Amino acid sequence: MRYTKISALNPGLNDLLKKNKAQVVKNGQQKLVLTADQHHLPTEKISKSAVKVIKRLKQAGFEAYLVGGGVRDLLLGKTPKDFDVSTNATPEQVRRLFNNARIIGRRFKIVHIIYNNEIIEVTTFRGGNSTQLQVDTPISLNGKRYEVQVNPDGMLVRDNSYGTNIKDDAQRRDFTINAIYLDIQTGELIDFHGGLYDLTQGVIDIIGDPETRYREDPVRILRAARFSAKLGFKISKRTVQMIGPCANLLHSVAPARMYDEVNKLFLTGHAQATFKVLTALGLFTHLFSISPMLLNSSVCRSFLDHAFASTDQRFKENKCNKPHFLYAIVLWNEFIWNFYQQRDELLLSADDINYKDLISYLASKVVIQQYQITAMPEQIINSIALLWRLQFLLETKEPDKYVRETTSYHAFRAAFDLFKLRAEFDPNLRSRVDFWQPHYDRCKAESERRRLNDQNRQPERRSNGNEGSNSRRSRPERRDRSRGFGNSAPRRDGAGDQERAQNFEENAASRQKRINKARSWRQAMNLEP
Ligand code: ATP
Ligand code: MG
Repeated sequence: MRYTKISALNPGLNDLLKKNKAQVVKNGQQKLVLTADQHHLPTEKISKSAVKVIKRLKQAGFEAYLVGGGVRDLLLGKTPKDFDVSTNATPEQVRRLFNNARIIGRRFKIVHIIYNNEIIEVTTFRGGNSTQLQVDTPISLNGKRYEVQVNPDGMLVRDNSYGTNIKDDAQRRDFTINAIYLDIQTGELIDFHGGLYDLTQGVIDIIGDPETRYREDPVRILRAARFSAKLGFKISKRTVQMIGPCANLLHSVAPARMYDEVNKLFLTGHAQATFKVLTALGLFTHLFSISPMLLNSSVCRSFLDHAFASTDQRFKENKCNKPHFLYAIVLWNEFIWNFYQQRDELLLSADDINYKDLISYLASKVVIQQYQITAMPEQIINSIALLWRLQFLLETKEPDKYVRETTSYHAFRAAFDLFKLRAEFDPNLRSRVDFWQPHYDRCKAESERRRLNDQNRQPERRSNGNEGSNSRRSRPERRDRSRGFGNSAPRRDGAGDQERAQNFEENAASRQKRINKARSWRQAMNLEP
């Protein structure tokens, strides 16, 4: 996927973009402005809410531009996931202009403006040349508005350095293709880093010195991989060659942020391509506690490749992909390999084996190792362990005896999905797939029936817009037996309960989205504890 439209419609423009990029490479920044009739960006696809936000900011005398993934994706002919606005108004000034606005984050403030299911993220121009930032010392220039702190590793730990213009703001963004600004009033596209040319070439190119930028924020390494997989772009030589040497910096990223990044990498419809890019860059083992020996085995790789392909297929079909299933798949081989090894040792020592305890112990061990990298919520941890435990029930030699027990678990269907994936690689499991399939179909039909009944019975609950994606979880009749296994966790995750307690107007889905975005911004600046 490339932005070829401009060069196809205006052959001369391609030369202009190319020359401009050469200047950027030579001199750092080089401003290029394309008029509306030059770039043909489909402005009618821009969210009405984003337009409203920009117009109001401008009416109040501020500058405001559309920037980031919204502009990039429109240029690529894709539907943007969200729209980001960049302005010279401070967060407090933005909030005063909108009564549906919330300031998110304390040390790095951004503003979320909420329209029904949509969140427009407004960031104040950032400024300050990151390569000149002082180590471990907050710098203060021109009073309070400039405040940046870098730790001894070069990581940005505080960033409240508001700039005054988009030129400085562009310098602090991650990749050239993410730093193209659209002035919706004049229709002009403004590009300081040759991002438009990189879009025509299908290239991810980092802004500034790669090592410095990765040190400031190692998550940029993962973002490079994510955009490469998502857009099918190659990563420029200078951007890719510092990834290996800087990969260890990922270990200093807060595990909670890593958890969010891994979800973005694997649960947004590009898991198979992401797996390929991450393994090629040697990054996969930085994200998952899977031994390189296992990952290098062709069976394990094919299993993961196949599993990720089916995850992407589910995404295409609008079926949900949940984090616990992702982790259960990825770490399955690590878990089962540990299990067989430990069991064989116990068999040799002729000790009595309590299989339930052994499974519990090993599941905890594998999951806790993973937790050091990506801090999964407790509920997810329990669900991963449950999916693994259910594999043993599904494999049992006398399945008739265990139908009631196995199907009573809320995780039965997900466990069976994992089992089917395994059966693709293990012919011994196929007869069990045939046995369990009708039970799976029955449970699925029952669940669908219950969902419809719930809907019919509770119209007033639906109409308050608060049922969101959590409504199915609150169903009372199915038993959640994960408590008895591994760590005991509350029935639902705490975050869900907190959300319900808040009396916001937007529904649960958009609330969750807003919370995730807020967190990822704070994390982007390493401001999460
Ligand atoms: P998408 O929303 O499709 O995942 P995006 O590029 O819009 O892609 P966001 O996370 O929404 O990604 O960020 C919006 C913009 O903020 C980016 O396009 C980029 O300009 C800037 N940005 C985000 N994260 C970083 C970062 N870690 N370092 C520098 N700039 C960043
Ligand atoms: Mg975005």
